[in-house]
Amino acid sequence: TCGICVEKCPFDAIEIINLPQELDDEPTHRYGDNAFALYGLPVPAPGNVTGILGPNGIGKSTAVKALADELVPNLGEYGGDADWEAVLDRYRGSELQNYLTQLIDEEITVARKPQYVDQIPKQFDGNTRQLLEQTDERGALDELVERLSIQPIMDQPIDSISGGELQRVAIAATLARDADFYFLDEITPYLDIGQRMVVARLIRELADDPDAERSMLVVEHDLAILDLLADTLHVAYGEAGVFGVMTDPKSVRNGINEYLEGYLNNENMRIRPESITFEEHAPRESTRGTPLVEYPEISKSYGDGEFSLDVDSGMIYEGEVLGVVGPNGIGKSTLAKLFAGSVEPDSGGLGFDLDISYKPQYIEIDQPMRVDSFLSSITDEFGTSYWDTEVAKPLQLNSIMEQQLTDLSGGERQRVAIAACLSEPADLYVLDEPSAHLDVEQRVQATSAIRRYAENHDATALVIDHDIYMIDLLADRLMVFDGEPAQHGHAAAPQEMRAGMNDFLADLDITFRRDEGTGRPRINKPGSQKDSQQKRDGEYYYSA
Ligand code: ADP
Ligand code: ADP
Ligand code: MG
Repeated sequence: TCGICVEKCPFDAIEIINLPQELDDEPTHRYGDNAFALYGLPVPAPGNVTGILGPNGIGKSTAVKALADELVPNLGEYGGDADWEAVLDRYRGSELQNYLTQLIDEEITVARKPQYVDQIPKQFDGNTRQLLEQTDERGALDELVERLSIQPIMDQPIDSISGGELQRVAIAATLARDADFYFLDEITPYLDIGQRMVVARLIRELADDPDAERSMLVVEHDLAILDLLADTLHVAYGEAGVFGVMTDPKSVRNGINEYLEGYLNNENMRIRPESITFEEHAPRESTRGTPLVEYPEISKSYGDGEFSLDVDSGMIYEGEVLGVVGPNGIGKSTLAKLFAGSVEPDSGGLGFDLDISYKPQYIEIDQPMRVDSFLSSITDEFGTSYWDTEVAKPLQLNSIMEQQLTDLSGGERQRVAIAACLSEPADLYVLDEPSAHLDVEQRVQATSAIRRYAENHDATALVIDHDIYMIDLLADRLMVFDGEPAQHGHAAAPQEMRAGMNDFLADLDITFRRDEGTGRPRINKPGSQKDSQQKRDGEYYYSA
């Protein structure tokens, strides 16, 4: 399909392809007059990991809340008292009825991890240990604490721990419960790749436990992790904020491929004009432009050397996007601060001081202010057609300009923060985990906005991210950090993509193969033939 003619191909070359349209049927749930409506609900299958993939604002969390008995679907009859009997009537004879009957009769138990972990400190007053001990129904807490590396923060107050720590505590609290159905509404925000893999393994082990019949349902935007983790996938489509439809389950491979392609086969539905594609081969070594800076070897330690960072000397060019990868707590933000001159190296100087615009990992823009006032206070270009094309459109800001910063969802706040970072005049733009809380399409659009911005301003973008697909789509070269988090970090000089990916993934012991249909990278099963062969060849990501 060419993706241009969606109604009817004038050449009769392709069959009719639908665009998402609100259905005539009664929805499963509608929030109010002219408000968002959800159609259908996924059915978690025993012993399975079921995934949900779809854009933000399409009803994924709404569906999860209904399945976890935290919201009674009103079947479109808002205003009155919704009741489960009517819902059961509606789904009589379906697998969903079976699930819901057991849920209402309390024959099954559920556990849910909410999407926005940042809200937890507002609801819980106490330390990590107190929070976790309440949830230890399986006697698995010690193991979860160990594998999720929560030990060092056990006695810290919940309102003092970082977002990445909160995410792991929330996951541990959910998995520690003894439930038949577990609902995990996004598992990767703020986690590094190693931590994402640990979480994926823990979820898989619970589903595979032969002594219990457990079902896991996971909402996730990190496609590499979702692909590794899920057995089946419901794709959610529709119009964000207006209506959402959940497809019947697809195999996880087909579901992700169709999602990237932008066309759902069984539904004969085009959900996006263009497909998202990946390069199988590393980008060719390009001739470099003008150097932005050549930096010397740098060392930096904090306190009495509790943490030390060693940076190899290297060169950064104008107009390039440098991907930065490495575990959390390894010194990535410290390097940004060194470049910005806000932190001094242990000895000597750098011989330069760059104007840096920095988007931190955890976004704190909580002023009682509208989005448009906030952004126009940052740049004079606000409102120009140039700014609109380069920043507002790709970051989908126009529909939220009149909202208060404090009312924004996680994904909206992220987009405003990326826009604010790019709108600051600078030589070097440092974005720390821009993918957090964005859906796949927003990640791709944010990626191209960052790329174009760097090129057009002869500036360099340093993008720290843990979503390997985003790094692949985004980066010209790669800067790899290794070491021991919270103790010692080492930053290698920027490398070509292939060499960088190989260094990084060898450290994590992960190889990727390519999907035969689409060329999309997929994590290999450890110890599989491909995994062993690629490790022998030293090709962890790109094919030779
Ligand atoms: P997703 O998880 O796919 O991002 P949600 O289920 O959170 O989507 O939300 C879907 C839509 O429903 C959004 O437009 C959201 O603003 C709206 N919505 C969510 N909760 C409520 C609520 N309690 N009242 C009114 N609208 C809501
Ligand atoms: P990353 O960005 O890779 O997550 P950071 O550069 O933020 O890592 O931090 C690396 C290590 O240095 C962490 O253990 C962190 O706690 C520690 N650290 C960061 N800033 C300071 C500081 N100002 N004083 C003491 N320790 C710090
Ligand atoms: Mg959600």
